[in-house]
Amino acid sequence: MPYVPYSPTPNKKTNDGQDFEAESLRSLKSETYSKLETNHNYLAFFGTLICAMYFLYCALNATSNPEDWHFIDNVNLIFHEAGHPIFSFFGDFMHIAGGTLGQLLIPAICGFSFLRSRQYYSATVMLMWLGQNLTSISIYASDAIKMELPLLGGDASGHDWHNMLEMTSLLSYTDAISKSIHGIGIMIVLSAIGAMFYIFLLKKQNSN
Ligand SMILES: [Zn+2]
Repeated sequence: MPYVPYSPTPNKKTNDGQDFEAESLRSLKSETYSKLETNHNYLAFFGTLICAMYFLYCALNATSNPEDWHFIDNVNLIFHEAGHPIFSFFGDFMHIAGGTLGQLLIPAICGFSFLRSRQYYSATVMLMWLGQNLTSISIYASDAIKMELPLLGGDASGHDWHNMLEMTSLLSYTDAISKSIHGIGIMIVLSAIGAMFYIFLLKKQNSN
């Protein structure tokens, strides 16, 4: 704790020892709070960094080992399955697309909510999750013609992407569509990681 010089302010008693004590206490408090805030930023940053490495690994692994199943894919699957009945009110196509929409909407809504409450690190994590989700979706989309992936329920007639692309007469574009979804997913993950480092630098600048 460095020595805190006492600088008397006008209209204030200067000959009172209590003033000096109160001033020193205030300085000590503000210094402690700023240190806490700096430590907290580092903690949040490292937490976000771990998430970034995980989501980047999952997203890149979707290219090299599409058959791999990650823990986060279980979470994605829950929101996927929840999306089907929710969007079923909007017709047959939306009933099928609702699965994909459901798993994308949750991280998007959470990310937007974090952004509004100025929790920027958390918002970047949601963005990474959204990107990873897209890379996972791209694997399903790439299977639209072959229909080889094991599906929940085991019935190939319930293949979302085969049905969606057939209904829209886009089956012949399966490869281009799945690659585009994958590319967008990777770009979103990388952008979120870039945003994470940018936020870290901004916070570091502000704490200096
Ligand atoms: Zn589905």
